Amino acid sequence: MRLSRYFLPVLRDVPKEAEIVSHRLMLRAGMIRQQASGLYSWLPLGYKVLMKVQKIIEEEQNRSGAVQLLMPTIQPADLWRESGRYDAYGKEMLRIEDRHEREFLYGPTNEEMITDIFRTYVKSYKDLPLNLYHVQWKFRDEVRPRFGTMRSREFLMKDAYSFDLSKEDAVKAYERMFVAYMRTYARMGLTAIPMRADTGPIGGDLSHEWIVLAETGESAVFCDNRLLDKPIPGQDTDFRGDLKPIFDDWTSLYAATEDMVDMAEYEAAVPEEHRVSARGIEVGHIFYFGTKYSEPMKATVTGPEGKEIAVHMGSYGIGPTRLVPAIIEAFHDEAGIVWPVSVAPFEAVLINLKAGDADSDAACEALYDELVAAGIDMLYDDRDQGAGAKFTTADLIGIPYQLIIGPRGLKAGEAEIKHRKTGERETLPIADAVARIK
Ligand code: ATP
Ligand code: MG
Ligand code: MG
Ligand code: MG
Repeated sequence: MRLSRYFLPVLRDVPKEAEIVSHRLMLRAGMIRQQASGLYSWLPLGYKVLMKVQKIIEEEQNRSGAVQLLMPTIQPADLWRESGRYDAYGKEMLRIEDRHEREFLYGPTNEEMITDIFRTYVKSYKDLPLNLYHVQWKFRDEVRPRFGTMRSREFLMKDAYSFDLSKEDAVKAYERMFVAYMRTYARMGLTAIPMRADTGPIGGDLSHEWIVLAETGESAVFCDNRLLDKPIPGQDTDFRGDLKPIFDDWTSLYAATEDMVDMAEYEAAVPEEHRVSARGIEVGHIFYFGTKYSEPMKATVTGPEGKEIAVHMGSYGIGPTRLVPAIIEAFHDEAGIVWPVSVAPFEAVLINLKAGDADSDAACEALYDELVAAGIDMLYDDRDQGAGAKFTTADLIGIPYQLIIGPRGLKAGEAEIKHRKTGERETLPIADAVARIK
């Protein structure tokens, strides 16, 4: 992508309305634009990061055996009357009437709709286990939307729903999602700790939240710091096998959110030197809730003995539009964002220090073509601007590698690479640049 042809509206001034660093940086780096309280447009740079985050989530969901579909954002109220949640949900639900005065709502979550799909098509225990998921916009009329897309009213959620014949099988489905979540956050560079959590209005008795520790986080959390450097299950994890040992290992050390913590239990379980009481950001939440929806909504299958059995369900949410700012909270410095490579909007930025100079332009054009041909997601700063402005932009938007071509180096056939994370610089032959970045 040529920066001169791109749409990157960076802000020079620090936006006053933004209280936390991720919100400030997302505005300054031209990633988002607020359209109304809690409603955001994702501008090209932000959207690119969001899509990389979404892709990692989808890959790990698919790897764990979940199957992707897409449900609408608008749902009929009657479906929610069946479960009893239409009245129970309260003011967070945006209720809508169409021209025929039929009642709808903008979905805050999808348990009812997925249960309706399930009961329509699945009739036999032989079709279980089943886990269906989608990545779709949700709306919750939050009392206090804030911190940019960290707590917005319209937000993207990946929500998965598992269906099983028994609690025992449902717990296995829960363990698969648990491991998939561990892998998902790790691939984004995040340390996210699974914590015992309150099941809230969704109900049920088994639930974990993933928390990224950050001072700006909205929840108080209590955990054992040995969870912070536990190895993450690898890519070769067999999701058809027994995942209980991994689940047990991760849940054997104490970790709970403020709603669930029992201070006496915490102090007894965690030696003083390992205690972490801190603040954190909820980036994901999983629940097992048994037959809470399948019973009232009659989602049953014929069991092995011919009896109709209400399926045991779980739901599994993760918020991509919250993960983007959470990643920035974890990875930034005074100059701007420092993206982990896996979610960086571009892998490298090619900086032409003397745009307009025939030799510099020719060398950069050739190198840019070569980098793109090698499959590297490149940004090319070909703007007619001074070196200082180019470095400031590159640092602000956090691209992992800056590949710098200036007239002096060019004479010697050399380029410079600056690593955004460490600030380390190295000089190398231009001919080696592709291999070095790839
Ligand atoms: P919170 O406690 O922050 O209000 P929640 O517990 O209400 O979140 P869940 O119903 O568990 O949220 O939804 C699953 C995930 O969706 C959350 O873990 C979070 O990552 C994301 N999410 C929920 N609400 C928002 C929001 N208002 N803005 C952005 N992401 C959100
Ligand atoms: Mg909430
Ligand atoms: Mg919560
Ligand atoms: Mg939650």
